[in-house]
Amino acid sequence: MRYSVGMDCIFCKIIAGTIPSQKVYEDEQVYAFADIDPRAPVHILIVTKKHISSLLEAGEADTGLLGHIQATAVKLAREKGLAQGFRTVINTGADGGQTVSHLHLHLLGGRQMHWPPG
Ligand code: AMP
Ligand code: ZN
Repeated sequence: MRYSVGMDCIFCKIIAGTIPSQKVYEDEQVYAFADIDPRAPVHILIVTKKHISSLLEAGEADTGLLGHIQATAVKLAREKGLAQGFRTVINTGADGGQTVSHLHLHLLGGRQMHWPPG
C-alpha cells in the first residue's frame, strides 16, 4: 500500500477498519462491502487491498488481480442468489463517473438492469 495515498483514501480506511463498513467478503487481495448508497437490492463494492487509483493506473502486474475482482463478483453473486443475472461495473476517471479514486468493482443485482446506463 502507498501509505501517503492510503491515509487520504476512504476505501483504504475502510480496508484498515478505521471507517466502518458492512463487510461481505475478504481475502488476501480484495475486500468487499455493501455500498452506502445502494442502486439495486444487491449492491456490493469489491475493492483491491492494494491502493490502485483506477484502471488507468493498473499495470501488467495487476492483470491477475483484475481477474480476481471479477471472479470474486461472480462468487458473491452466486452466494447472494443472483441466478437471474447481475451487472458488474468499474467506473474509470471523470468521464467514467468514478467518484472514489481507489479501484473498485460494483456488483449490482436483484432487479432488472437497464441499458444503456446513461
Ligand atoms: P464510483 O462512483 O464508481 O467511484 O463508486 C463509489 C461508490 O462508493 C459509490 O457507489 C458510493 O455510494 C460508495 N461509497 C462512498 N463512500 C462509501 C462508504 N463510506 N461506504 C460504502 N460505500 C461508499
Ligand atoms: Zn486507497
